[in-house]
Amino acid sequence: MKISEIGEFGLIRNIQQNFSRKILSTLIGIGDDAAAVMVSSSKVLLATTDLLLEGVHFDLSYSDFYSLGWKSAAVNLSDIAAMGGIPRFCLTSLGLPSNIKVEQVNEFYRGFGAIAGKHGLGLVGGDTCGSQKGMVISVTILGEVEKSRVLTRSGARPGDSIFTTGTLGDSAAGMEILRSKKSKVKSKKKKARSQESRVMSLIQKHLRPTPRVDEGRKIALSGCASAMIDISDGLSSDLGHICEQSGVGAEVYADKIPISTELKQHSGGLKNTVLHYALAGGEDYELLFTAPEMKLRKLSGLKMQATEIGKIIKGKAVHLVDGSGNMRCLSPLGYDHFRPHR
Ligand code: ADP
Ligand code: MG
Repeated sequence: MKISEIGEFGLIRNIQQNFSRKILSTLIGIGDDAAAVMVSSSKVLLATTDLLLEGVHFDLSYSDFYSLGWKSAAVNLSDIAAMGGIPRFCLTSLGLPSNIKVEQVNEFYRGFGAIAGKHGLGLVGGDTCGSQKGMVISVTILGEVEKSRVLTRSGARPGDSIFTTGTLGDSAAGMEILRSKKSKVKSKKKKARSQESRVMSLIQKHLRPTPRVDEGRKIALSGCASAMIDISDGLSSDLGHICEQSGVGAEVYADKIPISTELKQHSGGLKNTVLHYALAGGEDYELLFTAPEMKLRKLSGLKMQATEIGKIIKGKAVHLVDGSGNMRCLSPLGYDHFRPHR
């Protein structure tokens, strides 16, 4: 059977089923944003790893090494944030083609260090190899969380409200702008300064995302959330993961989805609708979480940018509801590594 027949998530399920040896101290194994293992009766060690491949996850013709280092740390920090955890240590492994310069590796670690420093993350090891084809980056982060505070994808219940931090779609729009800039001969006409800053803001969201570590921690400590995930594959896919693992359905109200002013104002210059970037785009690294009604007042007291975008419902269906009340099925639209052209 070809891996494209079952897709990325089918393959992960397959690995999970074939490797079902259970270890007692594993609180959360394959299937969430990070693994959680018990290291004492109250403390949980979180572990998450991500692989970034040149030509798949990044393009050195438009990403500088500083941003690449930043993003490599950010995507992993985001998974620790999604569990409500505190990042502690990391390991970085690099596969480097022979044309990469020492200065470029230093720039990578300057970017990596800038965001690692913000979160008190220490680099404690890794591995370095030559690569025959393209640059390869693997980052593993270890974090911790109290056993009573850990948040998973499986706790959403019917009646819970669905929230997202920040705004959605900017990163995907930024990537489209970067890709089109690459293929276009630069226009000689000077763009208006306001348009330039809008474009820069979208590009920045793609190249140097902000993981919501502080927000994740606040949400976890407050005890308000029933489930949480970070939005790495796009709202439609990541909400799908919460629903599948919680055994529930959802209704998302299209006109409640938070869209940045920059994305709205730049919508005319993009290939798709703003809603498409928000639902399918991915790489937002915002937190998507659910909260029961009795916690909503406490949640609003947390004073963070979180927008209610829908409700968890009974059943399995995930719907998108437009401003006129029309419903359509919201299937996962995010990227699947083995079915990229779905
Ligand atoms: P995220 O987007 O949050 O990084 P992924 O979709 O990459 O999560 O992975 C989902 C889950 O599957 C995670 O628990 C991850 O650790 C696990 N996983 C992915 N690939 C493998 C693999 N090859 N072996 C074991 N577990 C895997
Ligand atoms: Mg994740």
